[in-house]
Amino acid sequence: MHVLIVYIFQIIYVHTNLLVSFNVMPERLPCKSINCERTILPTTAQDTGGFCMPCVQRKRDEQDKAYVSANKKDINQYKNVNNPLEIIKIYHQPTKRDPLIHYVPYPDPIDQVYLRLDSTQIAGAITYVLQLLEKKDAKDTAIDIAIKLVSFINADISSILEALVKEEEYYPSFLFRSASIGIRNKLFEKLLNNTGRIDHIISALAWIGDKEVVAFFSQQQNPLYRNIFESEPKFLEYTKTAGWELDSNGNKQNLYYKKCYPFVKQQNNLPNSRHTTFTAQKSSCKFCGAELTSLFTLDLADDNLKFIECDKSHLSIGTCLRCCWHADPFFAEVGENGLVDCSDFNKNPDPLPKLDDVFERPIENCLMLSDKPRSAYYCVDWCSPVVQSQVGGFPTWIQNDYYPSCPKCSNTMIFIGQIANDDCLDYSEGIYYAFICSGCSMSATTYQQT
Ligand SMILES: [Zn+2]
Ligand SMILES: [Zn+2]
Ligand SMILES: [Zn+2]
Repeated sequence: MHVLIVYIFQIIYVHTNLLVSFNVMPERLPCKSINCERTILPTTAQDTGGFCMPCVQRKRDEQDKAYVSANKKDINQYKNVNNPLEIIKIYHQPTKRDPLIHYVPYPDPIDQVYLRLDSTQIAGAITYVLQLLEKKDAKDTAIDIAIKLVSFINADISSILEALVKEEEYYPSFLFRSASIGIRNKLFEKLLNNTGRIDHIISALAWIGDKEVVAFFSQQQNPLYRNIFESEPKFLEYTKTAGWELDSNGNKQNLYYKKCYPFVKQQNNLPNSRHTTFTAQKSSCKFCGAELTSLFTLDLADDNLKFIECDKSHLSIGTCLRCCWHADPFFAEVGENGLVDCSDFNKNPDPLPKLDDVFERPIENCLMLSDKPRSAYYCVDWCSPVVQSQVGGFPTWIQNDYYPSCPKCSNTMIFIGQIANDDCLDYSEGIYYAFICSGCSMSATTYQQT
């Protein structure tokens, strides 16, 4: 009997083995990790010590993370460096990404370092830019420094412009703002010879914007440039890129103010100020019913703001924070004493925002107007890491330049200031641009973001 049982078991054993060897799917094993419900092939288990591949990868990631956190080093490239030029060089130096290195950032905003440059150091910065331009892979860094030299401290970068023109580079055209007569004439020459990017050359000329340039734009009949006028039918629009246009008499009309005061961020203890930001208005939006918001209200008795042409005691820029993104532009009437009203000239926002669209009004007076002026072109480059909110100055266009026309008189409206969301709300982006037509007591707001 015993022998028979053993025999039967042997038969079953052999048959099972045969079955296994013929079976396409071998028996899968559970992963050894606790809480993991995956199964793996025996061959995988042999390679991994019994763990599934996702568990193996997770373990590796954890080990890598632990290694990085145990071995990561702070490198402070600015240690004992006091010369602002040297700080600027380090700041703009591209750093290799290395998970084991944390580069300690410079403690002050970079614009403050540029403001500290003396004349010798400015000359040194210009020489440095010229050296970078000679290298093939450093052009972007060179241009970035040049932009900051012009926008923050209005440095004379003639020698950089000479080098750019030699290379037939005219971009960013803003750099040519204070170009010499010699450079301007070279640009005209390039236009006549039709060499290089014609659109960039015309933009650069628009930024120079002197009498000769104004004459160039107004004399559309000039046979010398007939080809250009024909090939660039919208060439008059280039003047707006540089913040001006021709009036009906062919004179230059600036579309922004050269005076500029930045807003300063307020963290706590918002003090009372004669100028306010983000105050709720009594009047409401005729589209969505939300109460209007004054982006900013300026007390025009302030001597600093005498440059603003407006016959009211206060200038309020009214907008609907819910509709402004959709209605481009959003018009409001500028009333007495800082009161505003939704304009009948507004077109229906398209698409009409939903009434339950949430909009966040930043805390009232989270921004205060500084009494220290700054260059009008301080944040002409929207990538500059500076407070962009300002009254006056040149707009920080994120997309294309756009100056609305006044719905009453059709004149182009003048840029009066801007508020960057990022200056008021954490993790936000986008800029509100404010314009006025003082003759018609009309304001307009537009909005751009990436
Ligand atoms: Zn697993
Ligand atoms: Zn609305
Ligand atoms: Zn008007």
